[in-house]
Amino acid sequence: MSNEGGPVSARAAPVSAVLRRALGQLPNGGPERQAVEAGEIDAVIDYGSARVIAFPAARRALRDAARRTDAARQEAKLDAPVANRVLATLPRAEYQQLLPGLEPVTLKFGEVIHEPGAPIRHVYFPIDCVVCLLATTEGQRAVETGLVGYEGVVGIALALGVAASPVRTQVHVAGTALRLPAARFEVELQRCPQLQRELLRYACVKMAQARQTVACLIAHVFEQRLACWLLMTCDRSKSREVLLTQAYLANILHVRRESVTLASGSLQARKLIRYSRGRIAILSHKGLEAASCSCYSSIEALQHLA
Ligand SMILES: [Zn+2]
Repeated sequence: MSNEGGPVSARAAPVSAVLRRALGQLPNGGPERQAVEAGEIDAVIDYGSARVIAFPAARRALRDAARRTDAARQEAKLDAPVANRVLATLPRAEYQQLLPGLEPVTLKFGEVIHEPGAPIRHVYFPIDCVVCLLATTEGQRAVETGLVGYEGVVGIALALGVAASPVRTQVHVAGTALRLPAARFEVELQRCPQLQRELLRYACVKMAQARQTVACLIAHVFEQRLACWLLMTCDRSKSREVLLTQAYLANILHVRRESVTLASGSLQARKLIRYSRGRIAILSHKGLEAASCSCYSSIEALQHLA
């Protein structure tokens, strides 16, 4: 239905006034007025201001529909499979509590998330990235002491009441994560008992894994350690391929670069991996498990500590 009575200053006048003016111009007894009176019309078009003016009932209906859509979207978000294992263990009510504060972020290879001694500003729940926990020594040499992927949390010290990071945390497989500001995390921790329990359990798992990593470093030959480490990295990124140079591997696994060349060459000759220009692909997960030291199965079993 059009308002043919000339331009109406819709910006200056409230909608109801514009609507009344538009309706006032309809001929008495005409078909348009009859349709309005019968409740068959939801809106009129004011060509003067290029506006569609909805009747109050139609505006209410549109608002209700928008609210229902928002609620349905929220519901769908809650029902979507949670890609981080810690979040996936939470009861629906706790997850619902956390959801508005969780911000999806993309993490780049090499990005340092926390420095030792610096305040933890965010807690990260990895989805498909892998973060390395590094112990640093003088000269900024950093050695890997643990890996965190979709099964865990980065910034776990906050759950133990420690505001500063005890380790450097650095992204070594790029990907996505959900992060929560530290202040919000501390509040939610008090309100979500299952989150608290799960994080304490996870902190215990990480401590046990760090001890196993030290034992591995001392007791096992490098080729076995490399097989173990490749499996753990790929498992945590849910991928069969990892992009890392030999120089980087040598640095974080605390060996000489020649050792990485020899060990990766040997695993490649056994057709367990393929290595090319910084790209390592696992060709046989089972075969690589057999080539790994027992630390792979020990560390994976720790995940299920209850
Ligand atoms: Zn080992």
